[in-house]
Amino acid sequence: MAQQADARTEQVGLFLNPAAQRRVAFQAACGDLFGRLFVAEDVEQAGHILAQQAVGLLIIDLERYERGLDLAALGALVKGRNGAPVLLLCPYAAAGWLADLMAFGPLGYVIGPPQPAELQQRVRAALAPAGAADADADADADAAAAAAAADTGRLRRMLALRTRMQQAVLDLDSPDTLATRVCAVLCGWRGVVHASMFQTDDAGALVRAAQQGADLGALVPAGQPLQQSSLRHVFPGLLAACGGEFACLDAPEKADHAALAAALHAIGAGLTLGVPIRSGGPAAPLGALCLMFGGARALHADELQTLADLAQLAGVGLRIDEMSRDAEQLLARVTDLATTDALTGVANRRRGEALLEQEIKRARRYRAPLALIAFDIDHFKDINDRYGHPCGDAALRIVGDTTHAALRTSDLLARTGGDEFQIVVTHTNAIDALKMAEKLRAAIAATVFPGCDRLTVSLAVGQLADEESADALMLRVHAALARAKRAGRNCVELAMQ
Ligand code: GH3
Ligand code: MG
Repeated sequence: MAQQADARTEQVGLFLNPAAQRRVAFQAACGDLFGRLFVAEDVEQAGHILAQQAVGLLIIDLERYERGLDLAALGALVKGRNGAPVLLLCPYAAAGWLADLMAFGPLGYVIGPPQPAELQQRVRAALAPAGAADADADADADAAAAAAAADTGRLRRMLALRTRMQQAVLDLDSPDTLATRVCAVLCGWRGVVHASMFQTDDAGALVRAAQQGADLGALVPAGQPLQQSSLRHVFPGLLAACGGEFACLDAPEKADHAALAAALHAIGAGLTLGVPIRSGGPAAPLGALCLMFGGARALHADELQTLADLAQLAGVGLRIDEMSRDAEQLLARVTDLATTDALTGVANRRRGEALLEQEIKRARRYRAPLALIAFDIDHFKDINDRYGHPCGDAALRIVGDTTHAALRTSDLLARTGGDEFQIVVTHTNAIDALKMAEKLRAAIAATVFPGCDRLTVSLAVGQLADEESADALMLRVHAALARAKRAGRNCVELAMQ
């Protein structure tokens, strides 16, 4: 269970990892640094050794642990360490464990895989304070005061970041997108050279929604689906966005991906973080935040907590965005229902009247001619009586479709009554509107109405007069329509001014 290495110092070390290969490798790399090095393959063994030995450094190596590792048991070990400092070796793609374990007590960490000599240096540094027990008391007090001041400054900055993120998320009047606002806040974090946000777009594709600071360029292109990117298992932003992992790459080489390392060096990224924006359920993450700091630096527990909080706030923002999009769609649907004639799908009477008012104002502003065509199906009662109401309904739909197909996109068709329609014809005088009405009359007369006879319509055309109101124009045109009916139907009548 326990093995002893060459005694160079009196320090006792304890290394925990389930894989024999990892234990042997650590002994080979760092065994010399301890007076005695114990190794343990599980938490129980490690706890046993901690209880019996005055361990000077506990090294927990998280490499080779499965995703579902028992964090509570490891946390209990960190908590009940018996006074021993803890050094965590944490794979960069599983840095969430680091944040979780920091909650159980203070610990140092090395992001894995360590670079050559990094592990030895960090183990030496972790052992040093105990070795320098006779350091002078004044220097210790100064260092403690400086550390306290640094802690206060950092906590203030973290608080300010949280506040700015809250404001950014809730600033719904901003012309910028949520992602742009979030990236602007993240770039306010001291030392950040790049911030980006990944999120799922309306088509369900994961995209880079915004970036600020150094350009991710071709590495993670904007607007392109990223779920299948070759970088999704190595780049922290995508590890977080695709796999929901908090990733902390503190040296570009650790990802073992030459193109990624070159790109990160080119950007000047010493530390790259990917923080998942969680959905709050078992579903895939909503997206991720990606931050790059200019230099490698150790992250404090409160900074890790702040990162998680910022991602949570961004998640709230995404949900608010989604809710307002849903509300807009609902409003559009309700508006559509309230303004569309359910049988024919063309605008209803209320919308037709509103459109006429609106176009009259526009015509006056631009001094453009405006015409109104009203038409009514001839002897439609007879159609219903002879062929049945459903056949009449189908005929109404066909009249709507035929008319719609004959119009320009700028002409506005509405069903104003039972078998009565009107068309607001913009930028058109009475002569041209008469020609249009005649074409429409002929088109409907030539249309086949399955299940019933051919049918015809009577039409009336009027051009808006100076200072004439919508009501007056409609009245004049309907009087002309009545004349068309009296004149024998299936004809067009001009409403004289
Ligand atoms: P005219 O040539 O004088 O217009 O004769 P008409 O028989 O068409 O008379 P009018 O326009 O006054 O009658 C309209 C008829 O349209 C009355 C009603 O039965 C029918 N109608 C109104 N709405 C609907 C509908 O939604 N579906 C069907 N199938 N018929 C409708
Ligand atoms: Mg009729």
